[in-house]
Amino acid sequence: MASRIIPVDPFDLVVFGGTGDLARRKILPALFRRYCAGQMQDGTRIIGAARAEYDTEGYRAFVHDELVEFAGPAAQDTDQVAGFLDILDYVAIDADGELGWSELSQMLSEERVRAFYFSVGPELFGGLAERLHRHGMAHGESRIVVEKPFGHDQATARRLNETLAEHFEEVQIYRIDHYLGKETVQNLMAIRFGNMLFEPLWNSQYVDHIQITVAETVGVAGRGEYYDNAGAMRDMVQNHLMQLLCLIAMEPPSKFDPDALRDEKLKVIRALDPAGQDDIVLGQYRADATRPGYHEDVGDPDSTTESFAALRLQISNWRWAGTPIYVRTGKRLRARKSEIAVVFKETPHSIFGPEAGRHRNILTIRLQPNEGIDLDMTIKEPGPGGMRLVDVPLDMTFAKALGPDAEDVPDAYERLIMDVIRGNQTLFMRDDEVEAAWAWIDPAIVECNKRGQPPLPYDAGSSGPEEALALMHRDGRRWREIKP
Ligand code: NAP
Repeated sequence: MASRIIPVDPFDLVVFGGTGDLARRKILPALFRRYCAGQMQDGTRIIGAARAEYDTEGYRAFVHDELVEFAGPAAQDTDQVAGFLDILDYVAIDADGELGWSELSQMLSEERVRAFYFSVGPELFGGLAERLHRHGMAHGESRIVVEKPFGHDQATARRLNETLAEHFEEVQIYRIDHYLGKETVQNLMAIRFGNMLFEPLWNSQYVDHIQITVAETVGVAGRGEYYDNAGAMRDMVQNHLMQLLCLIAMEPPSKFDPDALRDEKLKVIRALDPAGQDDIVLGQYRADATRPGYHEDVGDPDSTTESFAALRLQISNWRWAGTPIYVRTGKRLRARKSEIAVVFKETPHSIFGPEAGRHRNILTIRLQPNEGIDLDMTIKEPGPGGMRLVDVPLDMTFAKALGPDAEDVPDAYERLIMDVIRGNQTLFMRDDEVEAAWAWIDPAIVECNKRGQPPLPYDAGSSGPEEALALMHRDGRRWREIKP
């Protein structure tokens, strides 16, 4: 199965923050891999922009070293690296001042697609949009890509939306959530809406509950200052987990089109019941023998920011009333694992009698690691001895099912950046969607604060605080294991 690469017309992409962590580790390697895949035509230009004083050669040397470190085996192809470096340029610019703006506008004289990636701190987003407009760079073929965090709460998100809207149309604004660019997340839509098998069962009549887990083994060191001001609710739940929830729970859109899809996602967020204090467990990781605890990682012994959140959610609509959705995310947990598990109800009656045990089908969508899908089926245990039942997974690991091409899928940033260039907003969040997510999470955070207690401590390498287990136990359910 050969992958199909469709080259895009030559374009200009300006990476504001072109020397920063995200640009080095993700954006530039992603662009390089798309270049190697043959997706960029002659004449395409990528322009790094930051305050640091580099000339073009200096920036190319900088990017060369970053590619060697972060772009994987492709960076060993010296011809490809040289070809990519050739399309790079640099401008020293101050997003907050006047340095570099006329130089940039002179560099972008051609009428063609131009994208501006805001890979800088969120306090600079508004100023960047305003300056791009003032310097005549916000024409119809211009797009801006805005990184997270998109606001700190609903009020700040709305203000940011309003500021961006003064200078760019909504169709020009690409709010990035890299989870939406993951292959398996898109596969979730293919599975739901490309197969007849699941959709008739995809409701509270057949689904007992859904679990969404995004577990990380890393702590917050290196991003401590930002993270301590956000916490798991703002950094993960408001965006990544809410987006996964929307895709799993939404009604089928009439077509795979940006607004049709985003309309359906918005309806899910708006149908969420408010979360009460009993529906949320927050935690903070302790130190272990070799690793510092959260307080040491952020350098504040009194910090009450959560590094773990588990929530019980309820969507009040015809499809999902009565089927809870449990979500959890945390740092310094037992394993790095992201998955969505759709747990079906037991059969209404077991013809095999009580000794056959209790069984249920579980559809698991593994986002990382080992992307793929499992469907737990109940079968007869082989051999003599009567009708003993056992649950086994029908395993569709993409790499096994689809061969080498499946291992070579573009990473989320590659796909999303090329979608920006193609003008496809399907996998990006719309203004009302972001505000609605905040409108749900803000009161949930207020509820947590009302408890007046710090987050519950949990051991590094565990599955989070015990109370998170109780969140499901009290409903007679249990979390799936977080294991490597
Ligand atoms: P970073 O490492 O601190 O880099 C910031 C970049 O912005 C640098 O290139 C810096 O270069 C430039 N910059 C700072 N002030 C500037 C100004 N006044 N004018 C022009 N350029 C300026 O930050 P980052 O980790 O790359 O994050 C960038 C954005 O992505 C943030 O919004 C962050 O929340 C988001 N994000 C990051 C990650 C990640 O993994 N790093 C993940 C998700 C989202 P100079 O100092 O030379 O100007």
